[in-house]
Amino acid sequence: SYPLATLDPDVHQAISAELRRQQETLEMIASENFAPFAVMQAQGSVLTNKYAEGYPGRRYYGGCEHVDVIEQLAIDRLKSLFGAEYANVQPHSGAQANAAAMSALLEPGDAILGLALAHGGHLTHGMKLNFSGKLYNVAAYHVREDDHVVDMDEVERLAREHRPKLILAGWSAYPRQLDFAAFRRIADEVGAYLMVDMAHFAGLVAAGLHPSPVPHAHVVTSTTHKTLGGPRGGFILTNDKDLAKKFNSSVFPGQQGGPLEHVIAAKAVAFKLAAEPEFQERQQRTLDGAAIIAERLLADDSRAAGINVVSGGTDVHLVLVDLRTSELDGKQAEDRLHHVGITVNRNAVPFDPRPPMVSSGVRIGTPALATRGFTRQAFTEVADILSIALRPDTDSAALDGLRERVSTLAAQFPLYPDLTEAAR
Ligand code: PLP
Repeated sequence: SYPLATLDPDVHQAISAELRRQQETLEMIASENFAPFAVMQAQGSVLTNKYAEGYPGRRYYGGCEHVDVIEQLAIDRLKSLFGAEYANVQPHSGAQANAAAMSALLEPGDAILGLALAHGGHLTHGMKLNFSGKLYNVAAYHVREDDHVVDMDEVERLAREHRPKLILAGWSAYPRQLDFAAFRRIADEVGAYLMVDMAHFAGLVAAGLHPSPVPHAHVVTSTTHKTLGGPRGGFILTNDKDLAKKFNSSVFPGQQGGPLEHVIAAKAVAFKLAAEPEFQERQQRTLDGAAIIAERLLADDSRAAGINVVSGGTDVHLVLVDLRTSELDGKQAEDRLHHVGITVNRNAVPFDPRPPMVSSGVRIGTPALATRGFTRQAFTEVADILSIALRPDTDSAALDGLRERVSTLAAQFPLYPDLTEAAR
């Protein structure tokens, strides 16, 4: 039985509608994924009832013997997955992990250096309305105009000039890999901590398909719900014992109260799954799908229609479509794709002449479809649909045809079949 349907039909109906939306459309928001049913089962468990301030074996509440087992499993699995000495699995989200890591290492007013938001950075890397921009004295580095690759010469110059206490490497919208060793060399030269925020590419790292920041950084933060495919949440890793203590007290009692043990249980399940061969195979399909899409959008017919790809390709799970020379702006492109049943988000591209609310780009990610089982062949079909939908001259009859092709793909790769019955 599913008592929510009778107790609260309003919420039940909205959840059921969201399930259908996820099943019937193609999710290509680069930061999203589909958590396995077992992960959602752990998250929807009785652990939601438990207070457990503190850490395993050192709690401020009684009755923590079972949540201790769970949190320790999550810590041990996470350490082993990324080869790190210390892990904190309590941050409620990626932003919380970043806030905790930064408050452990910095005093208000200290200088930090991060990738500019408009060039692919995250809000927590120094955006002026975010805690990071308000508390710290921010300098931002950029990508180069000619090839859209992070300008390490600028990073070095700004580091020497601003003497930041923390250099942040990581991104939300950048299709290439960062050179962690080069970042560390610059950090060491100016006496800064190196923090890598691997929220986006953590799943690729776990699968061994992307260089690991763990050997290079003083601290690595992440979310658990993007490429990693777990519940919404965050974590912090370090190899330094003293820093590990600082991060623990910064998370609790510094930033948070009771940990979300139901989410931590779900993280533990996700970390277990991420160590399995199937996960690696899925991350490979994620990368293959992004490469197929980039290649299709760089073909002559797409280029002729004003479509381009930031940095001329991708090494990761996302493609940043560059519409600066297209009549179609990012907002119109997002709306069009929504019309054909593909969900993406518009995104500023580097050196974007259009305002952020409109922008000249869309960010297209493959993790969720890879989780759904999409093959290289299915990604080729998706790439073709995208390339036609993004041409300014594609008319509404043609868009309706694309919508049919999207529905066919969605039906070919069923999502959460077991939930459909329960949700009725
Ligand atoms: N760090 C990066 C690089 C991100 O892309 C994001 C989310 O988009 C976050 C941190 C924040 O994660 P959350 O939304 O869980 O707070």
